[in-house]
Amino acid sequence: MILGDETLEDLTDIAKTIIEKLYGTQARTLFEYIVSNGYIAEEKIANTLELRSNEARRILQKLSDEAIIVPDKLRLENEVLHIWRLNKPAIKTFVLNRLKKAKEKLEVLLKAEMENVIYECSVCKRRFLLDEAYMYDFQCPHDKGILVEFDNPTSHDSIKSILKKLDALIAKIERMRSA
Ligand SMILES: [Zn+2]
Repeated sequence: MILGDETLEDLTDIAKTIIEKLYGTQARTLFEYIVSNGYIAEEKIANTLELRSNEARRILQKLSDEAIIVPDKLRLENEVLHIWRLNKPAIKTFVLNRLKKAKEKLEVLLKAEMENVIYECSVCKRRFLLDEAYMYDFQCPHDKGILVEFDNPTSHDSIKSILKKLDALIAKIERMRSA
């Protein structure tokens, strides 16, 4: 089965963003070139993109480790070019893996935030961890103010809403037909 052009485009856009976050803007530029051209020739990188060759090699290695690009040779009339081709089917796996990792990190963060209850003094607004608050018998050691549970619903809600969006995106990508 072949991915429809539209879905592949969506995926490639997400991949561009992830690649930029992981490996920097030069990596994005290089990847965008490979996407639009279908491949990049090692011999032509210096002429095609403003990129130092050792930096280009480092990026190509990273993309190759992710299987997003695969090495190949292109025979022309009087030369053989060493090229890297876009490996379209691997893009879906790459994007899904990265989104799932991001989701796991957020879930850990949310869990930690919800478990680490913080107490705040109603008078001086100093904050204490649960065991400290317990030790002080829920009274501020500075001014005897009552220590009240302080949670951060804004932070929880924003993490939850990002998680929801990630879930929807992952589900959408998983429904796409694989190449
Ligand atoms: Zn206090």
